[in-house]
Amino acid sequence: MSENWVELESRYFFPVGKRLPVTLVKGQGSRVWDEDGREYLDCVAGIAAVSLGHCHPEVVKAVQEQAASLMHVSNYYYTVPQIKLAQLLCEHTGMDKVFFCNSGAEAVEGCIKLARKWGKEKRDGAFEIIVAEDAFHGRTLATVTATATEKYRAPFTPLVEGFVRVPFNDVEAIKRATTGKTAAVLLEPIQGEGGVIVPDDDYLPQVRAWCDEAGILLMADEVQVGVGRVGALFAHQLYGIEVDVMAVAKGLGGGFPIGAFLAKDHCAVLGLGDHGTTFGGNPLAAHVGYTVLKHIIENDLSAQVAKKGEHLERRLHSLADRHSMVKEVRGRGLLWAIELDRAAAEEAVLLCLEEGLLANNVKPTALRLMPPLTITEEELDRAVEIVERVLGRIESGTPK
Ligand SMILES: *Cc1c(COP(=O)(O)O)cnc(C)c1O
Repeated sequence: MSENWVELESRYFFPVGKRLPVTLVKGQGSRVWDEDGREYLDCVAGIAAVSLGHCHPEVVKAVQEQAASLMHVSNYYYTVPQIKLAQLLCEHTGMDKVFFCNSGAEAVEGCIKLARKWGKEKRDGAFEIIVAEDAFHGRTLATVTATATEKYRAPFTPLVEGFVRVPFNDVEAIKRATTGKTAAVLLEPIQGEGGVIVPDDDYLPQVRAWCDEAGILLMADEVQVGVGRVGALFAHQLYGIEVDVMAVAKGLGGGFPIGAFLAKDHCAVLGLGDHGTTFGGNPLAAHVGYTVLKHIIENDLSAQVAKKGEHLERRLHSLADRHSMVKEVRGRGLLWAIELDRAAAEEAVLLCLEEGLLANNVKPTALRLMPPLTITEEELDRAVEIVERVLGRIESGTPK
C-alpha cells in the first residue's frame, strides 16, 4: 500500500483508533479491494453496517436518485422519505413514535434523554438507568458512561450521573439494583462489542416481566444486532418480547449514516422543543434507510440470515473441534465470535488480512465475524477456511 496515505494520516489525525495496514478503495457485495487491486472477503461489513453488501444496486440507486433530487433541508419542513421510513419502522416493530439521528450513539443518547424525562414526569423524578457489564452504547459523554469499558470512560470524568451497572444475563441483579430512583433498564439484547455475548433464552423475558412489575422502562440498544443481523428483524424479537424504547443505527443505512430511536406511546414523552437535530432524518439518509429496510423486509432477509447463521454455526463448531485453541464459538445469525485460548486475536486479524479476509478482533482473545447479510454460504465457507488456515499458522508458531 502507498506509504503516502499512512504518513498523511499520522500527520493529520488524532491517533484514537488503530487502523489495519490496508487502504480500501472499492467494494462489491461481500468483497472489497485495496489500492493495489488485492481482493478481500469482508466479514466486518463496516462494523455490521453494510447490511446489503457493498454497492448493492438498490442502495446505489437510492443514493443517486435522492442526491439528485433533494439531499437536505432540515426538520423545519416536512420531507417524504423520513415519513415513509418512520411508518415502515413502526409497522414492523410495534413501536409508535420515532426520532431520526445520524449515529448509534445519538440514538442511545436520545433513549437516555427520553428515560430521564419519563422518570421526571411519570415516576416521581426517577432518573437512574440500569446498564450491564460488558455493555457498549457509544462514545458521547452519556453513552460512554453507559458503556462498561473503563478505559473509554476514565479520561473524561466527571461522567454523567445516574447509571447503575449490573452483570449481564442476571435478572436478579437487575431486581436488586432497582429502587425508587430507577427509570429504565438499558440493554443490548445480544452484546456486540463486549464480545458477542448471547444471554440465556429466558433472560430478556424475565427482565421484561420485572420491568412491568417494577413500573420501569425496558430500552433495547439494537444498534448492532438490529435490522436483520441476528436472524430476526430486531434482536429482542428473537426472545418473544416487546420493548418500550429502542435505539437503531448501523445496519439501517446499509453503509450510509443514519440512526433512530423509537418508543411506545405510553412512554413517548418527548414533546415540542425537547430534542432536535440538523441532519437527522434528512431525505438522503432516510431514503437510503427506507430502501435498505424495505429490501430486508420484502425479501425476508432475516429468515435467510437465520439459515445462513445455522450453516456458519456448524462450520465454526467443526472448526472448534479441529483446533484446541478455539475455546468457544458464540453468536446468532451473522454475528459470531471465536473465543481463543490466548490473546492472539490481533495477530489473527493481521494474518486474515494477509490471507484475504477482513475479520475483527473484538477482544484480545476473540475474533468477530459480521459479514453483509447478503453473503452466500460458499463465501461463509471460504471465510471459515481462511480462519482455519490462520489458526493453523498461529498454532504451528510459524505465522510468517
Ligand atoms: C456501534 C454501537 C453503538 C454506537 O454507534 P455509533 O454509530 O458508533 O455511534 C451503540 N450501541 C451499540 C450496541 C453499538 O454496537
